[in-house]
Amino acid sequence: MPKPDSSLNSKFIFVTGGVMSGLGKGVTAASVGRLLSNAGFTVTAVKIDPYLNVDAGTMNPYQHGEVYVLKDGAEVDLDLGNYERFLGIEMTSDHNITTGKVYQHVINQERTGDYLGKTVQIIPHITDDIKRRIRAVAEGHDVCIVEVGGTVGDIESMPFLEALRQLSHEESNNCVLFLHVTLIPHSKNEEPKTKPTQHSVKELRSIGIQPDLIVGRSATSLDDEVRQKIALFCDVPAEAVFSNPDLEDIYHLPMSLEEEALDEYVMERLNLLENSLPIPDRDTTWRQSVTAPKNEEVNIALVGKYGLEDAYISVYEALKHAGISHGVQVNTLWVQSEILDDGDTSFLSKLELDGIVIPGGFGSRGTPGKINAIRYARESGVPYLGLCLGFQLAVVEYARNVLNLKDAHSSEIHPETSNPVIDLLPDQHDIDELGGTMRLGELETHIQENSLAHSLYGSNSCLERHRHRYEVNPNYIDSLEEFGLKFTGKSGPRMEILEVPGHPYFFGTQFHPEFTSRPTNPSPPFLGLVHAALKHSSTKNNKK
Ligand code: GLN
Repeated sequence: MPKPDSSLNSKFIFVTGGVMSGLGKGVTAASVGRLLSNAGFTVTAVKIDPYLNVDAGTMNPYQHGEVYVLKDGAEVDLDLGNYERFLGIEMTSDHNITTGKVYQHVINQERTGDYLGKTVQIIPHITDDIKRRIRAVAEGHDVCIVEVGGTVGDIESMPFLEALRQLSHEESNNCVLFLHVTLIPHSKNEEPKTKPTQHSVKELRSIGIQPDLIVGRSATSLDDEVRQKIALFCDVPAEAVFSNPDLEDIYHLPMSLEEEALDEYVMERLNLLENSLPIPDRDTTWRQSVTAPKNEEVNIALVGKYGLEDAYISVYEALKHAGISHGVQVNTLWVQSEILDDGDTSFLSKLELDGIVIPGGFGSRGTPGKINAIRYARESGVPYLGLCLGFQLAVVEYARNVLNLKDAHSSEIHPETSNPVIDLLPDQHDIDELGGTMRLGELETHIQENSLAHSLYGSNSCLERHRHRYEVNPNYIDSLEEFGLKFTGKSGPRMEILEVPGHPYFFGTQFHPEFTSRPTNPSPPFLGLVHAALKHSSTKNNKK
């Protein structure tokens, strides 16, 4: 495939949001990136989170959704997961800029005397630092997409928008585009309303930013009349107004934007067209994967503390990826673990499950329910995948019900237990700061030959991302193994993978394989689960 000229200077697409948050701005931005990457360009992304937290590590998933973990151990907003999945790239802490990070750096510099004699101000010192960070990420890439979290008009995002405004003036012509994602609600009589968009664009213009493209999020595609109206009021050409309608799968958004020729418009405006791959040569792997037919279906329960999709988004997506690869529709059923706390698992039996996943988590709420779900999976032969806390609780369940250590527990949840089968990592004892202090990021696991893990990964080792403070207590490993639980993945003295031989699929990982799963490159433990779930479903159907 011919490669476009890689000596281009970076181009920037700045993505802002209007009317309300949660519009799918990140998915829109990531889809634009996917299209440019299909056309042969190297694309990277920056997510700006205007909150004061230095990172998302200490934030509650209930409010902010999942904390996504990057290769370098950075704990970031879930939008970075979308960028990694859509663009197939690996990002680092530098790709997530927060107010906390910027101010911490500028204030530290002030303290060390770097600004000696000067008054340190938002403009230029904070804005300069923001621009420096964006340029550093963009370097070496054809296109850098920068998404500003929140909505235009938020006090917190002001310095960031000002920095983007300045950057757009500093870069040469045809280097920067502002893309505004906004909501087009429908009135009671189904009429699309553009007034909120007009207001948010007015807000944007009052701070000196004129959007170049507008993407309207609405139930259906925007018709010509609506496009014309937005064009007129917001001062953009009608061909620069695009739709982001409700779709059956977010992975179809790149194709939906492509149908409206958003990619051509963006490339033309950024002067990239002549370096883009001709349409027949563009990469279609994404399209082929996400539209592959699904001939069968399986039901998999995700048993977590929160009955909230955003809190476990990477797990949900990883299940989908494994489904794509097996040609299977994975129906993810959200189960709040607390409802299983009393030990009655009839709720699970009624769901006709083909698999159970217990994701990562912290704290004690709903853990009895999770342990009951694990016991149910182990005893009834329903395929099980435990991730991080789901791995640790599988050890607890095994210790209690197979080794008969009735009070076995994780010392995180029950510090007084006389059998702490899961205990604090040795290097976690003297830590008193909570931000960024866990065992974090990509680490290598050595995999035992002739194990399920080995057949899934097809290798003697794997690199996966971590986020935990507790681990399997080394004092219990021998007895657990004597009673049949096998630790087939290890990282030095640490247990990383567990299996129960003889069970159709009972697999747990101390790491989080969901963070490296991609639609075009699914995660091995998830592939294994969906494979086993398929088998489970066909035996179930045969019995009927
Ligand atoms: N709370 C557990 C620990 O700190 C598990 C963490 C997780 O599931 N990410 O080890």
